[in-house]
Amino acid sequence: MAVKSRTTQQKKKTTTAAAKKAKASTTRSSARTSSTATRGTAKSASKKSTAKSTARTNTTTRGALKSSRGTAKPKKSAVRRASPARGAVVTGRAGLPNGRPAAAAAVRLRIPRGQQRWVYLFEEGSASMRDLLGGKGAGVAEMTQAGLPVPPGFTITTECCNAFYKNGRRFPPGMWDQAMQALKHIERKTGKNFGDPRNPLLVSVRSGAKFSMPGMMDTVLNLGLNAQTLQGIAKLTGNERFALDAYRRFIQLFGKIVLGIDGAVFEHALDACKQRFGAKTDADLQPDALRLLIDEFKNIVRDKADVEFPEDPYDQLEQAIGAVFSSWNNKRATDYRNFNKISHDLGTAVNVQTMVFGNMGDDSATGVAFTRDPSTGDRELYGEYLPNAQGEDVVAGIRTPHPIAAMKREMPQVYGQFEKIAQRLEKHYRDVQDMEFTIERGTLYMLQTRSGKRTAAAAVKIAVDMVHERLITRQEAVQRVEPGHIDQLLHRRIDPAAKVDIMATGLAASPGAAYGKAVFDADTAEEWAKAGEKVILVRIETNPDDVHGMIAAEGVLTSRGGRTSHAAVVARGMGKPCVAGAESVRVDLQKRQFTAGGRTIKQGEFFTIDGSTGNVVFGQVPMIDPEISGDLEELLRWADSIRRLGVWANGDYPHDAERAREFGAEGIGLCRTEHMFMEQERLPVVQRMILSESTEARRKELDKLLPMQRGDFRGILKAMAGLPVVIRLIDPPLHEFLPSLEDLLVEVTRARAEGKPEAEYAEQTRLLQAVRDLHEQNPMLGLRGCRLGLLFPEIIEMQTRAIIEAATQLKKEGVDVRPEIMVPLIGTAEELRRTRAVIDRIAQEVIKSSGVKLAYKVGTMIEIPRAALTAGEIAECAEFFSFGTNDLTQTTFGYSRDDAEGKFLLKYVEEKILPTNPFESLDAAGVGRLMEIAVTEGRAARPKLKVGICGEHGGDPSSIAICERLGLDYVSCSPYRVPVARLAAAQARLAVTERDR
Ligand code: PEP
Ligand code: MG
Repeated sequence: MAVKSRTTQQKKKTTTAAAKKAKASTTRSSARTSSTATRGTAKSASKKSTAKSTARTNTTTRGALKSSRGTAKPKKSAVRRASPARGAVVTGRAGLPNGRPAAAAAVRLRIPRGQQRWVYLFEEGSASMRDLLGGKGAGVAEMTQAGLPVPPGFTITTECCNAFYKNGRRFPPGMWDQAMQALKHIERKTGKNFGDPRNPLLVSVRSGAKFSMPGMMDTVLNLGLNAQTLQGIAKLTGNERFALDAYRRFIQLFGKIVLGIDGAVFEHALDACKQRFGAKTDADLQPDALRLLIDEFKNIVRDKADVEFPEDPYDQLEQAIGAVFSSWNNKRATDYRNFNKISHDLGTAVNVQTMVFGNMGDDSATGVAFTRDPSTGDRELYGEYLPNAQGEDVVAGIRTPHPIAAMKREMPQVYGQFEKIAQRLEKHYRDVQDMEFTIERGTLYMLQTRSGKRTAAAAVKIAVDMVHERLITRQEAVQRVEPGHIDQLLHRRIDPAAKVDIMATGLAASPGAAYGKAVFDADTAEEWAKAGEKVILVRIETNPDDVHGMIAAEGVLTSRGGRTSHAAVVARGMGKPCVAGAESVRVDLQKRQFTAGGRTIKQGEFFTIDGSTGNVVFGQVPMIDPEISGDLEELLRWADSIRRLGVWANGDYPHDAERAREFGAEGIGLCRTEHMFMEQERLPVVQRMILSESTEARRKELDKLLPMQRGDFRGILKAMAGLPVVIRLIDPPLHEFLPSLEDLLVEVTRARAEGKPEAEYAEQTRLLQAVRDLHEQNPMLGLRGCRLGLLFPEIIEMQTRAIIEAATQLKKEGVDVRPEIMVPLIGTAEELRRTRAVIDRIAQEVIKSSGVKLAYKVGTMIEIPRAALTAGEIAECAEFFSFGTNDLTQTTFGYSRDDAEGKFLLKYVEEKILPTNPFESLDAAGVGRLMEIAVTEGRAARPKLKVGICGEHGGDPSSIAICERLGLDYVSCSPYRVPVARLAAAQARLAVTERDR
């Protein structure tokens, strides 16, 4: 076996620690090489160990070592002799304000000319080196520089991790030598020696990527322990039990992490040992029991990994570093990065740090604390600690930690010191810190500090408080809060303390949570809601016929469709929770029930949806109402003073407009008039209008619709007094207002088959014929938008009349109205010219007869690539453009939105064929490019052209950033996203300002 063959070799040498040290400093490199060679050829070497060792130390390493041999010898003094010209021994920089001058006068590693630097002492790094040193490495470096009590150590860079992978999972040339140099430095600093039985240095080997990936990668503690050093620790601490326990923990962790042995095997052995010796907890195991346990653990290693447990600390170190690098690509870590959109090529750094022990008795402890409460944002130390324990005890949950406030009583001095450090760190980083610490026999050590994760409510409170404390600027406060946080705060959510029984998970399509009785059609939803019931509408997918049910329901669940499906878009517009595309939910419309996760919810039974997570939850769950606190208001006011982009809202009804205004909207960017056609009492009139056989007959029906629409427009214009309201003329294909072709076909066929007299189903037959006439293969590309109005100008006339009559009436009443009429789906300038001619004719007519002066604007949506490409010509007869990026994305990609999201788009994103769903986040390269052309050419033709966006992207922060860069005048989104957009627009502005600077 590997170690055995080494042992033979080593026997010839002296086994004293001094000799080992000498070997480490002078011939470590050749030892690496020779041990590899020996391992590689050793007959007794197991397949596994051979493969592992060869993987770590290889020919490349050998090559590198060869070249460094000549310089390897004097390493012992290399650090001390580093020439001041290269910056040695100088750094007196106090990284933290109010800090004593940096206690740690920094030294530097000496890197041979031409060799890449892979290793940094903690004294050499800084907070700004996160990319290279990872978050943890950068944090401890900054603290070390500031003279805080950090156990000495060094960081192997993220670049080295990448080189390790490129090199076939072998250390790149020079790394090991640099690590050895750094280890010498730690030895000098601590006065302990690695592998020295009399005064052994023990280290931890910890992962630490640029972005925190809690618990996803591996860490090895107590490294450097073996049968000899164990004695040293026992003697030095006067605590044999402690030393034995540290050793068994080390074997256990090393076995699991480095040698890949199932952790449960060790746990079973530990449990069996406790039982045998009648020990209740791990801490009750006495030396005899621990000695047996150690033997048992070593047997497990022999059995399961086919190697002897490595006794040579350098071997241990080498293997542990390799294992931590390898843990970057374990499944957990890879999944976590996928979920959190963290790039896979960042790599992890490895921190090798002197061990300090929180389990050395009652004057020792370990803990974690935040400088402020991460769930409320309150300004007080928040955290917990465990006396006489190691970090893993806290993580494993074996013992319940005490609140940090208890430490104030139990260890007042250390607490005071810790509190001061916490304040300094927060002041220095100007952000909430999440700190790990250990107290070893009354001495406090800081192990880590990083920016603390926090809830949405805490994020807002902390940002605002810190401005008031003059710690950060208003701009910084605006940048600190994630737009998603605002979104969370504005919706009801499931009480985090509630127990939830998740039946299924679909897409988080519209945020917020709701419970209600399951209903399976829109009419029942409306009926039950009128009777005072809370209902959730469950459909396979929704269509415009379901809108009245959606209005009545608390929320919507669909088993099909994506985040921009009808259900999702409409629910978001209404600010109602929606879980869409929950594929594991089997909806049975006939039986009026759905099944998921092995359970069935029948009509009338309660269940809950969480549109922020996509969860479908069994039963009724307690909720928390949204809190729009004073802090949030203040933060958004700061955002308003920073942003350049206007923030408008899409809304179809006066109550949408009121809500939007409350949330800070500065206009209505899209009122979809066809939604008004869908209202139940109007639909029959709309249908008769569509089925009219002559223009005259159609006008008659339109005349009935006129007062209804006028009433709607009056409401919305009044609610938005003083602000612009963009009203879009009817857009969807007419057949959308008629019953479905399939349903009618079934009805008529059944009536015929049953031999009913034709007169009884004449209406259905007529409808069927009309629906057939209007049927299109590709309705989204068919007779819709401005095309409809050009074929049936009387529709444009009625809508224009309704808008302008409502506006003039209000004007007479002294209301400041600003109507803007928008034409949808323009592809050519001529389409707009002709439509505009109708609008202007009617508008002038109405204004004239009203006797008031009224200004109105006419503009167009840009939602077809041809419109974007000919924007200059189109702008000649448009006072404003509004990008309909839902359609512009469809038509640019050539995807049908609903089909794409249901069929292939999610797969495309999963497999990275597309970076993101282009219906959620604007595609900058394609759709964004078309927008840029349209903005540039449109403004060239008409410098005062107002340009906005009203597609779903208008509320998406990354799309808002693109709109800012393109110089749009405003974004328009659903009312509930207005506060998010206000913040995102300010952040986008700050990003552009920073870039330009
Ligand atoms: C758009 O296409 O982006 C748009 C706002 O119009 P609609 O979604 O109504 O087609
Ligand atoms: Mg559109």
